[in-house]
Amino acid sequence: MASVPEDVLVNEALIEDLQKLAKDTALLQGILMRTKETPNSSEVVSYAAFTLFPSPVPRSLFEQARQVQTHFNLLVDRISQDAEFLEQALASTINVDDFTARLFNIYRQVIQEGCSQPIILGLNRSDYMFDLGKDSKTSLKQIEINTIAAGAGGLTSRTPALHRHILKVAGRVEEQKNILDNNPAAGSAKAIAKSWELYGSEQNITIIRRDFNDVSKRASLDQNKRLFIDGKEVAIVYFRSGLMPQDYTEQGWEARLMMERSRAVKCPDISTHLAGTKKVQQEMSRPGVLERFFPDDPKAVAQIRATFAGLYSLDMGEEGDRTVAMAIANPDHFVLKPQREGGGNNIYGEDICQVLESVKENSERCAYILMDKIRPQPVRNYLLRSGSPLKLSTCLSELGMFGAYVRQGKGMVLNECTGHLLRTKSAEHSDGGLTTGVAVLDNPLLV
Ligand code: ADP
Ligand code: MG
Repeated sequence: MASVPEDVLVNEALIEDLQKLAKDTALLQGILMRTKETPNSSEVVSYAAFTLFPSPVPRSLFEQARQVQTHFNLLVDRISQDAEFLEQALASTINVDDFTARLFNIYRQVIQEGCSQPIILGLNRSDYMFDLGKDSKTSLKQIEINTIAAGAGGLTSRTPALHRHILKVAGRVEEQKNILDNNPAAGSAKAIAKSWELYGSEQNITIIRRDFNDVSKRASLDQNKRLFIDGKEVAIVYFRSGLMPQDYTEQGWEARLMMERSRAVKCPDISTHLAGTKKVQQEMSRPGVLERFFPDDPKAVAQIRATFAGLYSLDMGEEGDRTVAMAIANPDHFVLKPQREGGGNNIYGEDICQVLESVKENSERCAYILMDKIRPQPVRNYLLRSGSPLKLSTCLSELGMFGAYVRQGKGMVLNECTGHLLRTKSAEHSDGGLTTGVAVLDNPLLV
């Protein structure tokens, strides 16, 4: 893949100038984050980490990811409505994974009580890497789909202007047009506003931020299950937290249950949250499963399936035994994943053998799934991170596509791909994630 010319990458004086300019431009564009030292203070901010240059992304793969997004929206939404499938897919996991089990308990309670809100708002992000096959062809492979708190849609809308400016100053004026405009936050806002309109609120839209603790102390349901907090009726609950076990105290779990039982539109509702688990992702890759969700649309099935990497069950029985043996024989070909979100939880290389050796004889292994390791073509670039020395790195990128949908009862009211996110990390890190401080913001430079 075409990347930054070598003479530019090693031109120290030029790089020094560009990185200074880049940081100032980032500040001007509002590409900001609070600092590690003062994470809860609004008094000190720095630029959010980013690549000096945009990274090359094959235009055809970018288009493929964009085009399949509305199908993924439908898939997630359809899975969320299929209690039998969710129950089966997660049966072995919830026996051994406490966090998924607690989410599932909430799901069961809500199902039993009956759904109190026919409006569904989904905001997700499907993440991909570009797998370099043995035949030297690159293909789009899905890493995962995030159905809760899929972030960075705001920050990423500000980075095209930054990278275009860098390209211009670096004398690559022609290439500026290969960086697309991007505004996933606007797409999310549109879907949220649509749900709010359907909810039928009398007031203007106001946004308040509360944590689980606030909700547990100060929120309540009226007899029609309308959700109130601090004297205000809540039309939509958008979860920016609640994806990790450490997000919850006991009161937090009760607060989540209260919100799920309420008439408020939840983004995501508990069933959509569960549809985004890694176990469900693995079960989706079984033959015939996509056909169950798209009985009349073989084209959608083919488009979705083309993005699947090999995914393998570790459930008890012969199939799971084969997965264990395959992983231990060739650990570098795989990634072992527990049911966790947010980065930094996956297991790679020799650690896979260690973990599997210790759990392979018992049902604890059902807490994991196994996945083929995707191997992208590395590209050289500089990662600019506050407080880190400038260093030329060998990098790997991950492309995310943002999806938004609104359903009312049986009918889809809105179903869109709203934008993208490119994150890039140094190849020495197996795992990624912006919030874990490994990956940084980037832009696709379409080639
Ligand atoms: P999380 O929910 O923690 O974000 P992911 O499945 O997205 O979990 O994995 C985290 C990171 O690990 C990804 O951003 C990517 O860098 C790396 N990763 C995950 N799956 C694979 C894979 N199959 N091949 C190569 N890298 C992977
Ligand atoms: Mg991820």
